Amino acid sequence: MNKFTPIIGLEVHIELSTKSKMFCGCSSDHFGKAPNTQVCPVCLGLPGALPFANKEAVTATVKFGQAFGSRINSFSKFDRKHYFYPDLPKSYQISQYDMPLCVGGAFEDKRIRRVHLEEDTGKLVHETINGEKSTLIDFNRSSVPLMEMVTEPDFHDTVSIIRFLKEAQMVARYLGISNADMEKGSMRLEANISLSTEEGIKKGELPNYKVELKNINSFKFLEKAINAEIKRQEEILTAGGTIHSETRGYDEVKQTTYSQRSKEEAKDYRYFPEPDLPPMRFTDGEIEEIKNSLPELPKDKRKRFADKYSLSNDYIEILISNPGRSSYFEEAVSLGQNWNLSAKLIADLMINKKLDLQHPEPAGLIKKVVEIIKVEYSDGSDVETAVNEVVAEESKAVKDYNNGKGEVVGFLMGMVQKKLKGKGNPSMVREKLLNKLNER
Ligand SMILES: [Zn+2]
Repeated sequence: MNKFTPIIGLEVHIELSTKSKMFCGCSSDHFGKAPNTQVCPVCLGLPGALPFANKEAVTATVKFGQAFGSRINSFSKFDRKHYFYPDLPKSYQISQYDMPLCVGGAFEDKRIRRVHLEEDTGKLVHETINGEKSTLIDFNRSSVPLMEMVTEPDFHDTVSIIRFLKEAQMVARYLGISNADMEKGSMRLEANISLSTEEGIKKGELPNYKVELKNINSFKFLEKAINAEIKRQEEILTAGGTIHSETRGYDEVKQTTYSQRSKEEAKDYRYFPEPDLPPMRFTDGEIEEIKNSLPELPKDKRKRFADKYSLSNDYIEILISNPGRSSYFEEAVSLGQNWNLSAKLIADLMINKKLDLQHPEPAGLIKKVVEIIKVEYSDGSDVETAVNEVVAEESKAVKDYNNGKGEVVGFLMGMVQKKLKGKGNPSMVREKLLNKLNER
C-alpha cells in the first residue's frame, strides 16, 4: 500500500459564449479573429473608461451553480484582483472575492466550494520579427466573461478527476453557456496537489503546502501532469525532504513538472470591492425563475435513459454526451416503435455503425433501417392467417371497433404482431386488418 494519499482540489475556468464581453460591448467571439480588432477603451483598460456588467454572463453563472446544487448569494459583488502582467492592461482583473455568485454544491461525493465570475485576460503571442524574438499582445480576449469553479480538495485519483471535469464540460454544453472546448482554450484546468500521510488523514488535517499545476489544456495532459507531480512529491517526501508551495507547469517531452513561480496568496492580490460596478442583488423569486429555466441535466438524463431504455452505462454516456445526440436518439426510438425497432438496436446503429452521421434526421435513419430489415418481414399469407386468428379471438375488441371505437385498431395490430413475432410489415398488417374488420 502507498504511504501517501494524494489530496487534490480543482479550479476550472470556463469562458462563457455570451454575445458581448463581460464589462463592455465588444464581441466576445475572439477565437481566430485578427489581433486587436475586438477592443474598446474598457477592455483595453484606458483611463476613465467605465465597465458595466453583462447580465447574460451573470445568469449563465447562476445556472451553472444551480446545476450542481449551489446556493445563490442574494447579494454578490465584484472585486479588483491586483497583479502585474502585460496581458492585463488595467493591472487588476475584475473578479469576485468574498461574495461569489454561487456557494457550495456537489457532483456525487465531490464538493464544490464556489463558482464565481471574472474577466479573461489578453493573450501573449511569441513571434520572431526581423530575426528577433518578440512578444506581442492581443487584447481580443481581454474581458471575455470567465466563470471559475473551485472544488474542495476531495480528489485522490485522476479517474474521479476526469469524471468530474467531463461532467462540468457536459453541463456547460447542456446549458448552452459555453462550448467548453479545451483546444480552443474555452475550458482551462488547474489542480492543487499535495500528499497526505495516513496519520494526517486520520486526524483530518490537510498538508501544509500545495502545488498548483497550471495551464493544462486537455484531460489527457492533466492526467499525465498530475501523476508526474504525485511521483515527484512522493520521491521528495520519501527522501525526508520538504515541498514548497508553488506553481508548476508540465513538460510533456520530459514527462515531469517544472517550477514556474512561487505561489501567491490571497493577500498578495490586494483585493478590494470594484468601485465602478454596483453590487448584484437577487430576490428569491429571481433565483427560482432562473432555476426553473434549467433544461434536463446530464445526471437526470443519465437516470431517465437507464430506466426507460435499459441500455448499458457505456452506451448511455455516449448518447447523452451532447444534447443534440440524445434528442436524435430519442426521436429515432419513438419513430422506430412503429416497426418494433428496439432502443438497443438504434443505439447500436448510432454508436457502432455511426449511421446518425450519414442521416442527419432521425427519420432518415429509421427509413434506412426499415429498408434493410424489410426482407425479413413475414409474407402476405402469414399476415392474413394471423389477422384472421386475432379477429376470431378478440371478439370484444372487434365489437368495440364495430361500435365506432377506432382506437382498438392499434391494440389489434399489436396482437397480430405478437403472433408474427414482430415481423409483420406494419402497413400490410394495418391494411389486411382493416379489410378483415370492414368486411364483417
Ligand atoms: Zn471592449
